[in-house]
Amino acid sequence: MDIKIGIPRGLLYYYYFPLWNKFFETLGAEVVVSQPTNKKIIENGVKNTVDEACLPVKVYHGHVMDLKDRVDFLFVPKLMSIYKNEYICPKFCGLPEMVSSSVKDLPPLIDTVINFRKSRKKLFKAVYEIGSHVTKNVSEIEHAYSEGITNYHNYRALMKQGILPIDMNKDHFQKRKVISVNQQKVVLLGHPYNLYDPLLSMNIVEKLRAKDVMVITPEMMDTATINRYANQMDKKMFWSFGRKIMGTAFYAMEDPTISGMIYLSSFGCGLDSVIADIAERRVRRSSKKPFTVLTLDEHTGEAGIDTRIEAFVDMIRWREKNENNFSSHG
Ligand code: SF4
Repeated sequence: MDIKIGIPRGLLYYYYFPLWNKFFETLGAEVVVSQPTNKKIIENGVKNTVDEACLPVKVYHGHVMDLKDRVDFLFVPKLMSIYKNEYICPKFCGLPEMVSSSVKDLPPLIDTVINFRKSRKKLFKAVYEIGSHVTKNVSEIEHAYSEGITNYHNYRALMKQGILPIDMNKDHFQKRKVISVNQQKVVLLGHPYNLYDPLLSMNIVEKLRAKDVMVITPEMMDTATINRYANQMDKKMFWSFGRKIMGTAFYAMEDPTISGMIYLSSFGCGLDSVIADIAERRVRRSSKKPFTVLTLDEHTGEAGIDTRIEAFVDMIRWREKNENNFSSHG
């Protein structure tokens, strides 16, 4: 019988799922993913996580609970860093400990330390440790990892073409929808789990598209452009996702085809409060483009978000008709 590996549909699922899904499947394991975020998952996550945690971490706990009784192992790696000389939020480094202290009766966790900054040799040691839960055959693990990496690059290439996870098939390997080229372009800023989880984001991508607005996210930008614009900051942004967000915001200030920016932030996220504040100040100081921050928490009402999206889209359309007559602080 195939070994069942559970992958929670939260946090960096929206970044790395194609890699690890292909990796485990190539090794012959069955990958089980938690259901798309729903009310029960949010409620369970909120009940089983410390109050101080941010919403995405709470929701991740809900996904763990959704999976825990139907898999042999849960894949909850300890992610330390994804790019050289940069860091990610410390919550990712402590995730396995947080999950095991908050959720009872868990299956064994695959909680290997993954650090993409380290040498290839060290990275492969971690990959071998992860794969060894399915097979001890080193060349099979090497092959599976290379398949996973290829899939990951294909996935990222699709995103760069503007195809978001909601536009792809369930494995995130192929697009399933044709995206029309719409009139206004709006940049959506934030961490990937806030932007791409349909329930957490209150379906903002689809809502904007329904208003004939084309959505641009940091994952659609090419790395060289992000880095070039992020380097305009007075100090280097050493959080990887912060750099991507800032690089995208700076780019959006200059691109005349972009009408405005929306930052989706999580209540309880220290990083978001700093990054959103820096981005907002910079946009207000150096450009006339509308910028708004929508903060999400478990109590956020969809009606309130809908009203704000509607008002934002109306404003950018109004501005475009009445250029030069509208304050950027509006
Ligand atoms: S960056 Fe913010 S939202 Fe993401 S895990 Fe850390 S605290 Fe939570």
